[in-house]
Amino acid sequence: MAEETVVSKNFIEQEIDKDLAEGVYDKVVTRFPPEPNGYLHIGHAKSILLNYGLAQEYGGTFHLRFDDTNPTKEKTEFVESIKKDVEWLGAEFDEHLYYASNYFQQMYDAAVTLIRKGKAYVCDLTAEEIREYRGTLTEPGKESPYRNRSVEENLDLFERMKNGEFEDGSKVLRAKIDMASGNINMRDPILYRIARMTHHNTGDEWCIYPMYDFAHPIEDAVEGVTHSICTLEFEDHRPLYDWVVREVGFDNPPRQIEFAKLYLTNVVTGKRYIKKLVEEGIVDGWDDPRLVSISALRRRGFTPESIKMFMELSGVSKAQSSSDYAMLEYCIREDLKLKRPRMMAVLDPIKLVIDNYPEGQTEQMPIANNLENEELGERTIPFSRELYINREDFMIEPPRKYFRLFPGNEVRLMNAYFVTCTGYETDEQGNVTVVHATYDPETRSGSGFTGRKVKGTIHWVNAATAVQAEVRLYENIVDEEKGVYNKEDGSLNVNPNSLTVLKNCYLEPALKDAKPYESFQFVRQGYFCVDCKDSTPEHLVFNRIVSLKSSYKPNK
Ligand code: ATP
Ligand code: MG
Repeated sequence: MAEETVVSKNFIEQEIDKDLAEGVYDKVVTRFPPEPNGYLHIGHAKSILLNYGLAQEYGGTFHLRFDDTNPTKEKTEFVESIKKDVEWLGAEFDEHLYYASNYFQQMYDAAVTLIRKGKAYVCDLTAEEIREYRGTLTEPGKESPYRNRSVEENLDLFERMKNGEFEDGSKVLRAKIDMASGNINMRDPILYRIARMTHHNTGDEWCIYPMYDFAHPIEDAVEGVTHSICTLEFEDHRPLYDWVVREVGFDNPPRQIEFAKLYLTNVVTGKRYIKKLVEEGIVDGWDDPRLVSISALRRRGFTPESIKMFMELSGVSKAQSSSDYAMLEYCIREDLKLKRPRMMAVLDPIKLVIDNYPEGQTEQMPIANNLENEELGERTIPFSRELYINREDFMIEPPRKYFRLFPGNEVRLMNAYFVTCTGYETDEQGNVTVVHATYDPETRSGSGFTGRKVKGTIHWVNAATAVQAEVRLYENIVDEEKGVYNKEDGSLNVNPNSLTVLKNCYLEPALKDAKPYESFQFVRQGYFCVDCKDSTPEHLVFNRIVSLKSSYKPNK
């Protein structure tokens, strides 16, 4: 019997299937519409991969469109970083790169159409008055005294707004809908405001700018987007969007479908908070590896595949929920597990001297690059009389069940020989500086030696050929015990131990030529990635992406 895999479709796919079956649309066009006012974070990655994934699945088209209608906070720097992030995630947009600001003329014309239909008017109320007139959730709003201006007067005033005849903020264009609507968004929302600002794309061509709720549905409609997929907070705006595209007269306007934002438990994503961390120098920029901006995740060593896997595991839903960071860690481990080589690295070194090993001799020990994936092949690592081992792999007085090195005990040096500890040296403070041992030449790894067994295996690097490097270990930037936000003042509870810098680590010589973003498993320590900002061939810097152990278990 042929095996059948039943893939259950999410609610968005179900809606799209229905639209296609009923002939509402004959193709699928989706988009990711960021405002270029900051760096993208993991939440945006969800939206990017969701929209791109749907376009792929239905053989449709994916657009990247900058929603750049508000020049106050927008910058070219952000446009560039967003493009880079979207490309890195693998969401190809090819020639489908758009700027909402290129539609300013169409938006203006749309506003004129509404005025002509008696569906929009110029209003002279101040911002404060407009707020007062708007009413509340329980009380209807009040109509503006300017609401019944004639079409001619409105056309004239709106044109003069555009021509720069009025002060910033002195007039606005409003939709004429319903001041008593139960949905506050429908109470004559503002469509255009006067603001003399230089735009990153259109310069000083315009002194009036459309409001988001007017511009956004037009952008989608102009591009022929079929499914405007957005987050839940826009659900209440949908009636207004539908009103705009219908009244302006677009054929076949988009259908909006909302889904719940991605939240990560105990993780900060808010721009305001991250800005503060950057400004106060607590992190070294928006791409600090402790953050979850896409550039930070990339710098930390996450891969697009791991982020995709994470999005698949976390699913798409209408219900607000929060995903676990441990699940993201699980995904990167899964992705790197079979792909990346396992290397010898000693992060907290002490010297091990094998006193009976011939001075001046070096052996090349074969070692598998990846125990779980033979295809990655083998390499050799040098072995000689002086090695480095991890400080925690030696104890003067071991507790019960400690099977690593201590005076008199024999252990296996991974891929090399059995050694027995014969003594140690200390400095004036009593810190161990050198451990002494003797080796048994019969026990060479791969020789088939079966004479006796040892309980402990430790890793090592050859001292003479070791590469010195800096390694950075990370914990959550926020204090998980206390919770993300301080209950009193809403500030962040910063974890003072979120970064540990180990300056004096020793790595096997093959790591000498590691390139930025290249990642490796370090035996017994986790996965590490060459830092793209601070690492140089003379001074290698590695970030720990994730440790080897996981608290997360996927329910398969
Ligand atoms: P702002 O506070 O500036 O509005 P934003 O995060 O909403 O920030 P946008 O540029 O408006 O930034 O977002 C682009 C798109 O990303 C929107 O469609 C938005 O719905 C989506 N998005 C933002 N945050 C998340 C999230 N946490 N999960 C899923 N999608 C998100
Ligand atoms: Mg937004």
